[in-house]
Amino acid sequence: MIIAERKPIAEIVEMTRDHEKILVLGCRGCVTVCSAGGEREVELLASLLRLGAKKEGRKIEVQEGSLVRQCDKEYVDSLDSWNGEYDAIVSMACGVGVNFIANLRSSTMVYPAVNTTFFGGSPEQGIWTEQCAGCGNCVLHLTGGLCPVARCAKSLMNGPCGGSQNGKCEIHSEVDCIWQMIHDRLEHLDRKEQMLEVAPIRDWRTAGHGGPRKTKRDDLTI
Ligand code: SF4
Ligand code: SF4
Repeated sequence: MIIAERKPIAEIVEMTRDHEKILVLGCRGCVTVCSAGGEREVELLASLLRLGAKKEGRKIEVQEGSLVRQCDKEYVDSLDSWNGEYDAIVSMACGVGVNFIANLRSSTMVYPAVNTTFFGGSPEQGIWTEQCAGCGNCVLHLTGGLCPVARCAKSLMNGPCGGSQNGKCEIHSEVDCIWQMIHDRLEHLDRKEQMLEVAPIRDWRTAGHGGPRKTKRDDLTI
């Protein structure tokens, strides 16, 4: 899922200072699961914004809402039937949701309330770790299911590099070297010979370096 964390409240107050009627809008997708932008977080942020304005003697009206997903036109369009008035949306969705609202609602300012950080999973409660960088050309079948794009500091396709020390990455000494992990896992699976295959030079255009990417599924389009 997409992982995000709420921006510091002072930053959100600063970016929304010009507005008197704000809709704090959560998303019931990934940001709810990682406790960054679900209904609970909407309630908390709305209260903090009201308190902040009160402390500064500013008049402010903060409404609360949430969409099933902010990354889907169908749900963003449902804002048309919103009853309250607002002149800005503070989105608690990931950056995709903020972009989607900005694309579809040309007359409304939209502000990001969270920092979108990575695609990850949760190995234990309250902790999320990056697992995938959405590179558009998955190589996990070659690497024992462990991602060298997202999890190697240099995104090496043929690792480890010379800096790998005692199983740790030379860039971050507290982080396991993913190429050591790939080696150990392939060895454990009795597939260590896969380490000897040299991956060809990679075409990074699928990773978005050539501009925004788009996927079209003909079987799903109308
Ligand atoms: S190789 Fe690419 S698609 Fe596969 S997990 Fe890594 S970043 Fe994601
Ligand atoms: S030490 Fe391992 S994880 Fe770190 S940059 Fe080198 S190969 Fe990548």
